[in-house]
Amino acid sequence: MSKDEHLNESIISQEAKAFLAKENRSNHMEYMPDMEVLDSDLLDRVVADMESYDYDSYTAQDVRRALQHSRKTPEDFRALLSPAALPFLEEIAQQAKVEKEKHFGNSICLFTPIYIANYCENFCIYCGFNRYNHIRRAQLTYEEIDKEMAAIAQSGLQEILILTGESRQKSTVEYIGEACKIARKYFRIIGLEVYPMNSEDYAYLHQCGADYVTVFQETYHADKYETLHLAGHKRIFPYRFYAQERALKGGMRGVGFAALLGLDDFRKDALATGMHAYYLQKKYPQAEIAFSCPRLRPIINNDKINPMDVHEAQLLQVVCAYRLFMPFASITVSTRECARVRDNLVKIAATKISAGVSTAIGEHCTEAKDKGDAQFEISDTRTVDDVYQSLLNHDLQPVMAEYIYV
Ligand code: SF4
Repeated sequence: MSKDEHLNESIISQEAKAFLAKENRSNHMEYMPDMEVLDSDLLDRVVADMESYDYDSYTAQDVRRALQHSRKTPEDFRALLSPAALPFLEEIAQQAKVEKEKHFGNSICLFTPIYIANYCENFCIYCGFNRYNHIRRAQLTYEEIDKEMAAIAQSGLQEILILTGESRQKSTVEYIGEACKIARKYFRIIGLEVYPMNSEDYAYLHQCGADYVTVFQETYHADKYETLHLAGHKRIFPYRFYAQERALKGGMRGVGFAALLGLDDFRKDALATGMHAYYLQKKYPQAEIAFSCPRLRPIINNDKINPMDVHEAQLLQVVCAYRLFMPFASITVSTRECARVRDNLVKIAATKISAGVSTAIGEHCTEAKDKGDAQFEISDTRTVDDVYQSLLNHDLQPVMAEYIYV
């Protein structure tokens, strides 16, 4: 490392360290100028549900009662997420499988994420893209996006999820819109996992071709959230919470939800994620709901970050509880999990799987190869063909697009 780089390192470290002192941090509950504020009580209801959730109070009898109900109530959902449900995991998984097959048959949707930029203005202390982490930053040009997408489309995939990191300054709404227009040339379904924005921005991106939006709340525990998201727009807890609702107001067909399991108390976060989706679907019955179930992964320059107490059994429990509570919801398992875990989850409860994944910038064609560093290490490096074949081997039907636009 050069002298300048050392200097830079120490300046940036000090700047980053300043945020570690609570008195230097902004109010995470206060909207910034230009952030759209919705007149909604959803956040209060979800937080109240989460705070009152005493999972240790549930018993085997509560779990048995929940399993007997053909339509699971919020109270059943609470029982299914409790520690008392763990000894019933086999039975829960069997019920989840029946429910999944009732609504989705043996179809499993395939898609891949494309990271077109890794600039980020936020300071999430657990993420490799955070603005103080020393990684190679990059952003694909429109020409590179086109080449990357053309290369991905050659694999047969028809659904793509566009990711940018969260820098509105670098990855403007217009830049993302252009990426959507390019994607429309190659794919039938375009999802976005970008920074939360106002409903008029979502409406614009919908016009450009995007039809679903995923936003991870990470944790629904506002005080914990405050200690993990130290700077940037993401720090504003309620603005992030209402992103899905603004996306629906902007005309998006579907919205995705997730807590990053392992950041905080995963049972409470899973409960809040489910209730967030449940209330939103009641308010917007046309909304298509999706869940992701990410666990923490190691990041560049910090390999100590790992899921805390969310082991495979607990992960299965959460995925099955989502399936039973909201049987029509799509559930995605990401490459944060290894091939064995992913194959297992799609056999039982999940309905969507990514394939041929890279979380780095420009990995799919030689022109843009290796432009920027990856967000996190992936555990399942299988190609599209590998995942496709694996699904067939498990008597599942790989599906490249759930929707056809006419
Ligand atoms: S989690 Fe998202 S917003 Fe936070 S640092 Fe990473 S890319 Fe940026």
